Amino acid sequence: MKVYIDGKFYAEGEAKISVFDHGLLYGDGIFEGIRAYNGRVFRLKEHIERLYYSAKAILLTIPMTPAEIAKAVLDTCRENNLREGYIRLVVTRGVGTLGLNPNRCKNPSIIVIVGKIQLYPEEMYKNGMEIVTVPTTRNLVNAVNPAIKSLNYLNNILAKIEANIAGVEEAIMLNSEGFVAECTGDNIFIVKGRQLLTPPLSAGALYGITRGVVMDMGRDTGLQVGEPNLTRYDLFNADECFLTGTGAELIPVVKIDGRQIGTGEPGAVTRSLIEGYRSLTQSSGEPI
Ligand code: PMP
Repeated sequence: MKVYIDGKFYAEGEAKISVFDHGLLYGDGIFEGIRAYNGRVFRLKEHIERLYYSAKAILLTIPMTPAEIAKAVLDTCRENNLREGYIRLVVTRGVGTLGLNPNRCKNPSIIVIVGKIQLYPEEMYKNGMEIVTVPTTRNLVNAVNPAIKSLNYLNNILAKIEANIAGVEEAIMLNSEGFVAECTGDNIFIVKGRQLLTPPLSAGALYGITRGVVMDMGRDTGLQVGEPNLTRYDLFNADECFLTGTGAELIPVVKIDGRQIGTGEPGAVTRSLIEGYRSLTQSSGEPI
């Protein structure tokens, strides 16, 4: 695989950045996880838009236009003959001093890595997964807002470790008020009657691209889509529950904190959204 760094391609072993880059020293930077399906990059425009939103929030000036970033992503796919796979787009604050002042970092670095991703075993897509709520709460929206897709993922990593300790693959994170925020790398949805509900960004959720696609599909199929604050009680008593993310796509959840959700099997709405999402990913996107 060839890796794009600041306009050039490097062999994997040669793809390196400085130890003085504040992306490494402080987690000062932003990223996107993007997927290519069937020779097209899915929702590329939306991912790049979110990258610029993240940059805005941390006062990082990306030294390229959105069109140039899109070209760098597509060029990296072409360079690697990628038709199917995962794309990691990273913007670091750049090389600075050992102090944390970002003003000393003059040149943000832009990195594009392509590869493969399989987050969960295939069996879970069929039978659903079990998840638990973990003790680590979501970062406060007025501290490091989880809507910023920053390189600082320790909050999520701590929750992931707690999920692993509990013997499950994914964790529900609550915010400091006790409302459901999201999972460590996925947004969460419930189905209750004809309602399709997911926590609002103000609860500490990422503005997920898959989340947006699923909300649109829900509206198109006549579901009432809402973003209310949700409690664990709401999750336990949902008819259906599933997670969304670029890597995970849509994955059914059938057990939360020991409570069976709905029938204990992936529900009809979830299954039809999974099918709708699969056909969208196969048929739309920016040609490579
Ligand atoms: N929440 C978090 C914390 C994430 O890191 C991600 C991305 N993996 C998501 C939700 C899902 O977002 P998207 O659908 O844009 O991949």
